[in-house]
Amino acid sequence: MVELDRRYTAEEITEKLKEMSHRYPAHLSYRPAGESADDREIPGVLLGDSPKCLLVSAGIHGRESANTAAILQMIETYALIRENEYSDPLFEPGKKLLREYSIYFLPLMNPDGYEIALGDGGILQNAALREKAGNQGIPWKEWKGNGRGVDINRNFPCASFLPREGMEEAASEPETRALIRAFAEFPESVGYLDVHSRGKVLYYYRRAMTWRYNRRGKRLAKRMQKLSGYRLGSPREERETTFDGGNSVNYYSERYGRPAVTVETVADEAGFPMDLAYQKEVYREIRWLPLCFLKYGV
Ligand SMILES: [Zn+2]
Repeated sequence: MVELDRRYTAEEITEKLKEMSHRYPAHLSYRPAGESADDREIPGVLLGDSPKCLLVSAGIHGRESANTAAILQMIETYALIRENEYSDPLFEPGKKLLREYSIYFLPLMNPDGYEIALGDGGILQNAALREKAGNQGIPWKEWKGNGRGVDINRNFPCASFLPREGMEEAASEPETRALIRAFAEFPESVGYLDVHSRGKVLYYYRRAMTWRYNRRGKRLAKRMQKLSGYRLGSPREERETTFDGGNSVNYYSERYGRPAVTVETVADEAGFPMDLAYQKEVYREIRWLPLCFLKYGV
């Protein structure tokens, strides 16, 4: 069982997902997305086997640790729903959705950044990366980037990508390429949900997309708003917050034309390292959002 009142290391998260896929072999299969800059496995698990897949990622930013634990718990709950062991009559429709669609969970897209933020740069195995990280002058607990100090969520090849120092090209990072490959493995995917931590907001607006696409995204986000209690981000806010461009949701929407929603958990003023209490809170707030996405966004 997943314990939301403790913290898991990147290695333990990988083990946990393997363990769960052994416990529910009919429903879960362990499926890593690739390897990080510092050679850590990027863990993932596929629930179901339909080609109509919803992709769910978290942990793109190292320091946003609460979401990873919340999604571990979500995976277990969804496996129990499929096993018919989750006996909440409210979730009868959930059973049907999980038979029709699959969900590819990637709870820890940036394992190096996660380990750095919960420890320090000394966890980097590669000496050159360790030295580079030390020279960046960023407090460890606030670390967002990957093991090379690059913000993966600015690294996706899309209309808003901006080259800059340390990131001259899009998809320069192994974590970025791993997620791009994961998307490509499901050409019939039905949508993408990316979980971050800043202010309990849902962002659906995609600047490079059509009015019709964004209208559809807004309808879905409003449903998600009701379930989570989060605020709906305005197109203006979305433009400002993604000012730097190159986000995974932009890439997915532009490449596949299907809904891509960013979920920002946790109060604005939350500090780092994230208090353990957030893990339970985030789980409670977002646990049904993937099912909501399948019901109203597809
Ligand atoms: Zn983030």
